[in-house]
Amino acid sequence: MTREVFAHVARLTSFRSKANGVIFGRSVLSPLASFATLATLEAGFRKILSGASGRMARDSIRGVLARKPYVRVYAPLISIGAAALCGILLFSSLMTRDLTYYEYSYKGKVLGVVKDEGDVYRTVSRPETRATINERAGAAVVLDDDENIEVKKVIKLTSSEVPVDREDDIITNIATLGDVNVVGRVVHTGTGEIGTLASEAEVDKLLDLMKERWLEGEDLSKYSEVGFTDELTTDEITTARKNLETADEVFDRLSRASFAAIGVRTVEILNYDEEYEETPIYIDDDERYEDYELVATPGATGLRTVTAEYVRVNGEFSEQTPLSYEVIRPATAASTIRGTKKLSKPIGSGKFARPANGAVTSPFGPRWGRVHEGIDIDVNYAPVYAAGDGKVVYTGNKGDGYGVMIAIDHGEGFETIYGHLSQSSVNIGDEVYKGQRIATSGNTGRSTGAHLHFEVRIDGAPRNPLKYL
Ligand SMILES: [Zn+2]
Repeated sequence: MTREVFAHVARLTSFRSKANGVIFGRSVLSPLASFATLATLEAGFRKILSGASGRMARDSIRGVLARKPYVRVYAPLISIGAAALCGILLFSSLMTRDLTYYEYSYKGKVLGVVKDEGDVYRTVSRPETRATINERAGAAVVLDDDENIEVKKVIKLTSSEVPVDREDDIITNIATLGDVNVVGRVVHTGTGEIGTLASEAEVDKLLDLMKERWLEGEDLSKYSEVGFTDELTTDEITTARKNLETADEVFDRLSRASFAAIGVRTVEILNYDEEYEETPIYIDDDERYEDYELVATPGATGLRTVTAEYVRVNGEFSEQTPLSYEVIRPATAASTIRGTKKLSKPIGSGKFARPANGAVTSPFGPRWGRVHEGIDIDVNYAPVYAAGDGKVVYTGNKGDGYGVMIAIDHGEGFETIYGHLSQSSVNIGDEVYKGQRIATSGNTGRSTGAHLHFEVRIDGAPRNPLKYL
């Protein structure tokens, strides 16, 4: 080792220690200088021996010389040799100290080199420097000094200058390390994590960025509420610095995902006028089937002012909830007759309902010298209803005097006929129910004025309808 040191030192043209500023000139090991150094050291050695403190050594040497006189011959050589040895030891220890550095590492990662063993610990333990570390790291750094920081002695044999870290370098090296542990805030919504930020201030900044994005330039006083679509919670977390995101980074990431994780929610209170209707009043009629509905008294629409809560998410309409109404002009309810009889298809009941609301003006039987095969009911373009449940077997105009007509088969040989219609609203094959509107009466065919001609046939033979109604 000592030989290596000397060989190395001999190569040096100029060696400068940054730490203490001592400069060793190029002549340090020249033969002349070596001799001069050794001579000086020998003189020093002699001086020690001649001084008061050297009395014991001197006495001891005298003792030796008294017992072993031949030693006296070699005394000068011994003193020169001892002086040379001292010189070598002194010089090598001097040089070794100047070649000694301290490498410091965090979690096993070497960060740099310092000259003094205590430089790193002093730097990380002072409150002012800790504050600077936090500032440069952008988060509260958790060093766990004892566990994570290691300072190791190293000998640097190099002809070039060894860069040594000063306090400022140490601070930066530690603060900018991705693996350094920091205290962060992990931000959650109800459905998941949206990011890990350095501080509550960064969380607030993120929320401000979102509000700015959607509400920039708006008069916020028009909103009764400005918030978010989801409740945000934050939890403290100790994590590697590289896991932290800035508010801007999280914002950009949320932008790319179209703010699916969370949105800005605003609530406005709006007033507007609208027309409205009252719920119809129903009058139940158990003689009618449940598909029957007839407006007995029409209603009238009203006008009212609505006060509503209008919710937007990221500027887009989301939902509206009416809060109250102020009536300007009241609506009136329509009254409607509604059938309550269950729909069923009891074919061939034999009991028929009157197919139109009107007086019988011409009965079944002989009329003008021939048989009137049905009855005439006095209605003028009015609804015509099926007399019983059945199936439409004919509708149309055969040109046989009935005009537009409908024939319904009720099963068990029963059939009903409806003639002189202005319009049929059923088709052949339709199943119809008793009381169902099937047509509008009229004056088609051989007819002397608008009326409904109605027949009941059993096995094809006309019967008096009044007996079956
Ligand atoms: Zn008739």
